[in-house]
Amino acid sequence: MGVTTLPPTANPRAVEYVESVLNAVRSKNPGEVEFLQAVQEVLETLTPALAAHPEYQKHKILERLVEPERALMFRVPWVDDHGEVQVNRGFRIEMNSAIGPYKGGLRFHPSVNLSILKFLAFEQVLKNSLTTLPMGGGKGGSDFDPKGKSDAEVMRFCQSFMSELFRHIGSETDVPAGDIGVGGREIGFLFGQYKKLANRFNGVLTGKGMNWGGSLIRPEATGYGCVYFADEMLKTRKETLAGKVCLVSGSGNVSQYTMEKLLEYGAKVVAMSDSNGVIHDPEGINREKLIWVLDLKNGRRGRIKEYAEKFRTARYIPVDPKLDYNPLWTIKADCAFPCATQNEINAKDAATLVMNGCKLVSEGANMPSTLEATKLFLEAKVLYGPAKAANAGGVATSGLEMAQNSMHLAWTREEVDDRLHRIMIEIHRNAHETAERYGVPGNLVFGSNIAGFLKVADAMMDQGVV
Ligand code: NDP
Repeated sequence: MGVTTLPPTANPRAVEYVESVLNAVRSKNPGEVEFLQAVQEVLETLTPALAAHPEYQKHKILERLVEPERALMFRVPWVDDHGEVQVNRGFRIEMNSAIGPYKGGLRFHPSVNLSILKFLAFEQVLKNSLTTLPMGGGKGGSDFDPKGKSDAEVMRFCQSFMSELFRHIGSETDVPAGDIGVGGREIGFLFGQYKKLANRFNGVLTGKGMNWGGSLIRPEATGYGCVYFADEMLKTRKETLAGKVCLVSGSGNVSQYTMEKLLEYGAKVVAMSDSNGVIHDPEGINREKLIWVLDLKNGRRGRIKEYAEKFRTARYIPVDPKLDYNPLWTIKADCAFPCATQNEINAKDAATLVMNGCKLVSEGANMPSTLEATKLFLEAKVLYGPAKAANAGGVATSGLEMAQNSMHLAWTREEVDDRLHRIMIEIHRNAHETAERYGVPGNLVFGSNIAGFLKVADAMMDQGVV
């Protein structure tokens, strides 16, 4: 078995079943490193549930769960500002629709490939199940890099991307949203083109603008939810976030609103980053500084380096590709909020965080910790909130946006935030209690994987072999 700590009562038949499925996944998906990592992490934690439900093996639930219902790949040609033709690759992975229409974000980043989108779609299935809302799982995107492109180029790209995607999605079929590189601007261009081609104005995308079907709190939801989840974890030890020194990686959508909510809870955020480097501000990133960051990142689309030029209390540490660790995680802190990207905390980073007294990790990004890092956190009894639980607030609020769209009404900011908060409390309770029930108390990796899985597995059983 791999690196995630198994419960003491691991059942040999269930372990053998998981091993055989993992071997088949490895041989069928060679080179898909991220997908294999995500599948291994999840399947190994499902053994207690598989032991309690032998019928899942009989019905080949795992074999079906790891195979996308549909994987689309398409050409995205567009013309840049110099009149040159550019060609990107577009994807949509429709992973599982057992409990609702496919739902999950679109990522535009040069690193995007089939493996990364399959890992994200696979995680999304269980995450969406945890939210308590009726949403299946999917993910999509392109290797297009919006960085450095003009608004007109981004628009032409989005229009070309949607010219193919529109025939596969729909408010009752597949409802994409944003992710890395896809914010309000991109969702606007994508929605405009969908509406033109489909001749339909409906909730086919979430993360929409407030004047055309969006939900209040959707931009804030992933970050806020990640902090609500951290707060719930701390409550189990009768602690709060007030006065805690926090590290937040990234400086995009999730990071920004994680920081905002942390400030509201009285925590002190001392670091953040982008793909070029890290800033460390020992005096804390207060509300005024955060507003400046929001303008830098969302308005001027600048680099985080500029923070250290503007605020002299901070120092800038540029990325050094020769290092086998991330300098951000060497800063002494009580809590870590990885909110940038996958595998941004390796075993060395995790060991440093633990050694420096870090007591809580709440994952805003998807799969930010490697399997070895996760194991270290669990062994050190760090309060560890895995991504599919801790960052589920984003997709949960997308679900609330879908609900408002289908009822043709809009809830107030307070109402949406209150529903989001209650959903995060419920996700934590469910993961916490499930972990206890299956013999791994306090282990929210097991708890959230099993809780998410049971609902999907039972729905798949109910619906027959499809
Ligand atoms: P954004 O594009 O808004 O921000 C991403 C941030 O992470 C940027 O600061 C970016 O830096 C940094 N980053 C991206 N890739 C890398 C990399 N390879 N190495 C170092 N830094 C990197 O994306 P989001 O905030 O929306 O998403 C962040 C994470 O949260 C992702 O893992 C996403 O899947 C996850 N997530 C997002 C949700 C949402 O609602 N938006 C919902 C649930 C999860 P730079 O600007 O230099 O590229």
